Amino acid sequence: MSCPGGSSRTEQRGNLPTGYNGREGHVKRIGVLTSGGDAPGMNAAIRAVVRMGLHKGWDVVGICEGYVGLITDDTTPLSARRVGGIMQRGGTVLGSSRSPEFKTPEGRRMAREMLNRHSIEALAIIGGGGSQAGALAMFQEGFPVVGIASTIDNDLYGIDITIGVDTALNVALEAIDRLKVTASSHRRAFLLEVMGRDYGYLALMSGLAGGADAIVVPEVDTDPEQIASAMRDAYTRGKSHALVVVAEGARYNAEGLGRYFREHQERLGFELRSTVLGHVQRGGEPGAFDRLLGTQCGVAAVECLDKGEFGVLAGLRHGQISTVPLAEVVGHKKPIDAKLLKMAQVLSQ
Ligand code: ADP
Repeated sequence: MSCPGGSSRTEQRGNLPTGYNGREGHVKRIGVLTSGGDAPGMNAAIRAVVRMGLHKGWDVVGICEGYVGLITDDTTPLSARRVGGIMQRGGTVLGSSRSPEFKTPEGRRMAREMLNRHSIEALAIIGGGGSQAGALAMFQEGFPVVGIASTIDNDLYGIDITIGVDTALNVALEAIDRLKVTASSHRRAFLLEVMGRDYGYLALMSGLAGGADAIVVPEVDTDPEQIASAMRDAYTRGKSHALVVVAEGARYNAEGLGRYFREHQERLGFELRSTVLGHVQRGGEPGAFDRLLGTQCGVAAVECLDKGEFGVLAGLRHGQISTVPLAEVVGHKKPIDAKLLKMAQVLSQ
């Protein structure tokens, strides 16, 4: 997806205008970008950064396609009107991408040059773990940044829930509910694979909320025989369906567990039908929670930029919108909630 209304590649912005928005004095110009995997609610964050920045009398520039736009000089000016009507849309109107070049010092040097050319003094970076690692690298090299925690994987250390998770969970839940209906009609065993990269949060929470008979996450070693007996037990106990939710990053994901069941079907005595939810999970229209979270995180990020609080990540932390230093987030693995996993097992009876 390209930037709203098309981008203005290689557009040169000269000296900062004075009296922007009718105000006198120094005008701040900030950039905003979305990077890595898109997440529902990113648009609410973009809108909040733009409108809060404008409210402060700043100029806000959109960087297209994440870090790629910093290297290829792909920008779009953002006004209050240009971010109108985007909050209810999934994905990101600024576009997103993955940029191997940005991981190199040379790539980031090109990015800083581009930012200098445009007189962009600071960046709000909306994205997940990889994107925030990039933000930290920029910060450590002397460029002011504030991150906004946004990924459906919910794998950012120090943050309770990232933008996009709630909507993605609801999409996964809808799939679980539908699979259960058809599974009940045919007394079949189903497997649903959800996203999450190498983190099991989405599988755990959708499995728990959807009443799965078994949940497979990357953080815990899984014996496929145990999954088979959980499924068989479900029938023995009189259930009309059996459903296992697996995380894409688990060894026994749809491919791994599916293969195991195929190879041992005769002995196990039943067939396992697989559904891979894949990118369907990303594409949902953001629900109220993600719109509100995106909005509040966007505002918090602008407040940080205003206060000169750089090198931090804005997000929901201990139940409140606050910040955590990027250096604490990057490189730390968020643990899975083992108690919830146990709870899911107990409740699947
Ligand atoms: P997400 O932000 O959703 O976790 P990725 O892991 O794909 O997505 O990261 C997005 C982009 O962030 C990468 O394409 C790369 O440009 C940048 N990035 C990731 N890791 C680093 C790093 N260690 N240093 C600098 N930039 C990084």
